[in-house]
Amino acid sequence: MITDGVMTQHISSEKKVTMSDTPISFEPVSGAVSPRFAGVPTFMRLPNIALNHPDIAKVDIGLVGVPWDAGTTNRPGARHGPRQLRDLSTMIRAVHPHTGVNPFKLVNCADLGDCPVNPADIQDCLTRITNFYSEMHSKNIVPLTGGGDHLVSLPILRGIKRKDPLSMIHIDAHTDLFDEYFGGSKFTHGTPFRRAIEEGLLDPTRVVQIGIRGTMYDGEDIEWGRQNGVHIITIDEVYETGLDAIMQKARDIVGDSPTYVSFDIDAIDPAYAPGTGTPEIGGFTSYEAQRIVRKLAGLNLIGADLVEVSPPFDPTGGTGWVGVSIMFELLCVLATATEKSA
Ligand code: MN
Ligand code: MN
Repeated sequence: MITDGVMTQHISSEKKVTMSDTPISFEPVSGAVSPRFAGVPTFMRLPNIALNHPDIAKVDIGLVGVPWDAGTTNRPGARHGPRQLRDLSTMIRAVHPHTGVNPFKLVNCADLGDCPVNPADIQDCLTRITNFYSEMHSKNIVPLTGGGDHLVSLPILRGIKRKDPLSMIHIDAHTDLFDEYFGGSKFTHGTPFRRAIEEGLLDPTRVVQIGIRGTMYDGEDIEWGRQNGVHIITIDEVYETGLDAIMQKARDIVGDSPTYVSFDIDAIDPAYAPGTGTPEIGGFTSYEAQRIVRKLAGLNLIGADLVEVSPPFDPTGGTGWVGVSIMFELLCVLATATEKSA
């Protein structure tokens, strides 16, 4: 007869054996094994490995949610982005249709969960995000982030800071190079890259912004950017010159320097991605967005983010689906670069 005590002991010793002897799988749970609508949704059905998990040292690329939109100056909601992105990311399969890359075979990817945030205090939240990414950086984990509004890129860049300023390829309808809002607010989703350049986190002469458009306040952001050497490429220039030629130009500018990629979903036309706070018509198609990221293959990429998906403006999830599909494109070029540098 088995007493409760013996049974408990048996179960706990079984569990112990499982924990120590079975290596963790860094491959996504296949939709051919367990249907993709089932289970707790992590990014791309990867294992959830927190920064204090014993297996964290094995992680090469960490997918992170930053559920924060306190930098939003107009229509909010991007704080709800990571949860919707995770849910829809369960539809992603493992192999890239064009390149054949399976990022999960190249490097160990994991969902590190959500970065700690504080919706009530901007400066405190910037510190929390910086600390989280700094810890990832110290563990040599390459970050792929789902935002959050675009202010999240500033503390991420602070956290992954190196000896020299980084290069950046930034796909967006907006420059996010404004100085301030509302008479002195320096930290909004319209200012992250002005701050990052001022703080020496980015080398402005190796920053390329692609897809810029929309009505302007006064153009001071563009003027300041160009004076400081930022390569600002409007959507008109993209269509006049051709996408592939523009991407070659962007590649030439960053060369083989360590390069961060920041992708604002509003770069894509609101016909494809209406669920965002600051939509601008005349944007990229979803295919053009995929092609832009594919053209980053082979660069020295050290991290990326996909920001500004705001589920309340598109509860159908269509925008979130575009967002996670771009995250998969980013993951493929990041995994190739990470494998190469290992
Ligand atoms: Mn932006
Ligand atoms: Mn934007």
